[in-house]
Amino acid sequence: MKDQDILLNTLIESEELLNGYTHEEIGDDHLFTGLETPMKPNAFAISDEEKKERIAKLFAQIMDVMGLDLSDDSLRGTPKRVAKMYIDEIFSGLNPKNKPKVALFDNKYRYNQMLVEKDITFYSNCEHHFVPIIGKAHVAYVSSGKVIGLSKLNRIVQYFAKRPQVQERLTNQIAVELQTTLNTQDVAVIIDAKHLCVSSRGVKDNTSATVTSFYGGAFNSPDKIAELQNYINN
Ligand SMILES: [Zn+2]
Repeated sequence: MKDQDILLNTLIESEELLNGYTHEEIGDDHLFTGLETPMKPNAFAISDEEKKERIAKLFAQIMDVMGLDLSDDSLRGTPKRVAKMYIDEIFSGLNPKNKPKVALFDNKYRYNQMLVEKDITFYSNCEHHFVPIIGKAHVAYVSSGKVIGLSKLNRIVQYFAKRPQVQERLTNQIAVELQTTLNTQDVAVIIDAKHLCVSSRGVKDNTSATVTSFYGGAFNSPDKIAELQNYINN
């Protein structure tokens, strides 16, 4: 076995506890461990094309182990299709080269109230089960002298959604990116989402939704939060 295979086996089989929980329990309870998406230092040492080739082969093995007949015309193209979808679409936000380029403009109108972009629909995937998280993000900021195009708010949400995610991290990653880009602490992000790993499996709860929020700078006041929620609910 290659070194990398041995390392992966050790990691998968590890019974080590974190705060008294096994890794299986942590994943099922959707606890999250940090702001940054955990990536290997050499994550981009191989090209997208090579990643797609390797994923296709590995996914074909998963299907084969499950007993699916890959010689069937309907299944034959699936491994390559899944590999392309992973790298080019649903997990494209892992690669910093896909980060939206954001241009800043002067706040010519001197608009100094909060700007809210609400109901941004996104599709993400839970990093613990690799099934969809479907939700809406509401983002808001108060200009520190610069503004960005409205569609960029949407694109920043989509970029971070296109990763294996947990909702808390998605919320914070969007907020910190906006704070950095807009050079202000005055940023708020609210996410309201359904997790298919909760509705289609596990506890099979079809009605619950998860809400997470980030209130930075001026948004850290009950008045501002009430104002923001008023805009979102209208
Ligand atoms: Zn999950």
